[in-house]
Amino acid sequence: MASFLETKIEFLKGVGPSKAKALQEELGIFTFEQLLNHFPFRYENRSKFHQIKDIVDAEQGVQIKGVITSLGLAGEPRKQRLTAQFRDETGTIELVWFKGASWMLKKLKTGLSYVIYGKPSVFNGKYSISHPEIEVITPNNEQKSTQFVPVYSTTEKLKKRYLDSKAIGKLVKEVINNPAFRVTENIDPEILQTNHIIGLKSALTWIHFPSSQTQLEQAQSRLKFNELFFIQIKIFQERVERQDKHRGVVFNKSQLVTEFYTKHKPFELTEAQKRVIKEIYADLQSGYQMNRLLQGDVGSGKTITAFICMLVAISNGYQTSIMAPTEILATQHYHGLAEFSEKLGLNTALVTGSTKKSLKIANLEALREGRLDIIVGTHALIEDKVEFKNLGLAVIDEQHRFGVAQRAKLWSKNDHYYPHVLVMTATPIPRTLAMTLYGDLEISTIDQLPQGRKPIKTTHLTDSNRLKLFGFIRKQIDEGRQIYIVYPLIEESETLAYKDLMDGYESISRAFPQTPISILHGKMKATDKEFEMKRFVDNKTKIMVATTVIEVGVNVPNATVMVIENVERFGLSQLHQLRGRVGRGGDQSYCILMSGSKVSKEARERIKCMVDTTDGFKIAEKDLELRGPGDLMGTQQSGVLDLKIANITSDAHILKLARDQAKLIIEQDPDLNQPHHLLLKQYLDTSKRHLLWSNIS
Ligand code: ADP
Ligand code: MG
Repeated sequence: MASFLETKIEFLKGVGPSKAKALQEELGIFTFEQLLNHFPFRYENRSKFHQIKDIVDAEQGVQIKGVITSLGLAGEPRKQRLTAQFRDETGTIELVWFKGASWMLKKLKTGLSYVIYGKPSVFNGKYSISHPEIEVITPNNEQKSTQFVPVYSTTEKLKKRYLDSKAIGKLVKEVINNPAFRVTENIDPEILQTNHIIGLKSALTWIHFPSSQTQLEQAQSRLKFNELFFIQIKIFQERVERQDKHRGVVFNKSQLVTEFYTKHKPFELTEAQKRVIKEIYADLQSGYQMNRLLQGDVGSGKTITAFICMLVAISNGYQTSIMAPTEILATQHYHGLAEFSEKLGLNTALVTGSTKKSLKIANLEALREGRLDIIVGTHALIEDKVEFKNLGLAVIDEQHRFGVAQRAKLWSKNDHYYPHVLVMTATPIPRTLAMTLYGDLEISTIDQLPQGRKPIKTTHLTDSNRLKLFGFIRKQIDEGRQIYIVYPLIEESETLAYKDLMDGYESISRAFPQTPISILHGKMKATDKEFEMKRFVDNKTKIMVATTVIEVGVNVPNATVMVIENVERFGLSQLHQLRGRVGRGGDQSYCILMSGSKVSKEARERIKCMVDTTDGFKIAEKDLELRGPGDLMGTQQSGVLDLKIANITSDAHILKLARDQAKLIIEQDPDLNQPHHLLLKQYLDTSKRHLLWSNIS
């Protein structure tokens, strides 16, 4: 038998088939339970009455007690409006109804006292309120005014069926006041107690009708906890499942690491790099398949860290791959790694979209036959044609460019076991977001830059300071340094972006007639790009004018100035990435943000953030705050974060609570068989059944 809360909404008093249909279509409310889960999005304080003389042009609604002194219809027959003069002891205000005027006229009477509520606005130099809520004062309702009147989101269609916020509130009350109202608790009492959260029934009642701030907060905490906790439980359960299913190869030899470390390493590793290598090494020996996210700010030295881990796999006779999002970056990785791997006698190859066909075929054959130890490449690596003899460790650089689906595809290259996976990102994912999204990924963080790096100095200049900018560039070039000047890609209009870039290139060529300049943009052929990039890397050109193609990973230590044109068009994480292209050598580096004199408030905040800090984590938090999580992760993953009530930025503490609790529970009792996890288990079992049903129907 369906429980009370599963009752169809049309059986609620005051609903009926037509309203039920509207609720279903507009808000997805089919049952009592779904109605209860339509939480108010704010609350209005109706415990105070305003005086008419104190009214100001405010965003907020006001509640007034008074008398209607006159009523009258005005306007043409079809567009009649009703106006009423409404008076309290301090003054008079006009009330106006544009819709249902004659109906309202029948309802209202002059000389009677009413309580009204609405937003005042100025019309013809006088305050008026259109379509106020209005209720006649009776001995009953005079004390009813409360501090927290729930406000619900609704739609025009619902309003036409008289389902405005107030009416929805009434329906909710109908459910809650029903003697049969029961809520099946889904978290066991011990867990509630340790986390200081209230029962579900109280929470669902108080979220709609709190009688104090404390009740409201308690209800919110419980419901936020609920939401985050069950996500975390699922994440940890999946992790256990994956660890059971996907055994990982055990890598217990590491002779190549020792050889590299004692004979060939180009510099001392930072403490953070060493710690991360230990964390990864422990995974590789654990017998479980590793699934780890390595985050480290731009320039923190992720590449060599990953390389050392790849050496572990190779020491054990396995192949490794490293995949990068762009050809430029893949090529650079290839050249960087080839130098070391040659010394160690390893075979390395590069496969990208523009690798010559014959070479590609030869490389892929070598890979299949196990003659290659390391393959470096772009997306080309996840094509079906690419076969490994025995892939042991897959490294994916700059993860945010790759979808989760692509990651999975890479895993399944091998039928017998899953390779270990190391995902690297320089766009630090705020901890809170990482916890919600990547609960099943272990996270390692390189939180330290190699010694001797000077923090990059960042300034903001408006276009009128261009001469100053050119002067500065000249000075840096005279000192032997190199410069990047970057233009935004304009997604809506590639042509426009191209024009911006070309105009910029021309004006720079004019300002620096003697200086060799490179140009790089997305429309160029891969070989041309590589040629231009190489000229810049070899210090043959001094200025690199480019679109954001250079954004990720490119490493030219002699470049010390990053000029970003039309900075207002860039997102924060992109700006941070771009800035990370300089400050890679021992010289003081600079980032100069160029904009027009007028920029939007949000762009100003981004610019300020860039000027104020170079800490990638702070920037990521700010980005999350400004853009919201869905946008931040790209559309691919936004669905994951469809949270109803919790907010992963502002509710970080609840998230942590929920996560720690979920982790503890699943570690101790992965199948939730213990009696003190009974409610959890029952709830998860029923929700799984529901999910199945909804998949079938
Ligand atoms: P990212 O983490 O952004 O990928 P890279 O791996 O490209 O950074 O490293 C940036 C630069 O720092 C490279 O030139 C690299 O050789 C150098 N580097 C990395 N680790 C160290 C270290 N421990 N000491 C000095 N230089 C280092
Ligand atoms: Mg990198």
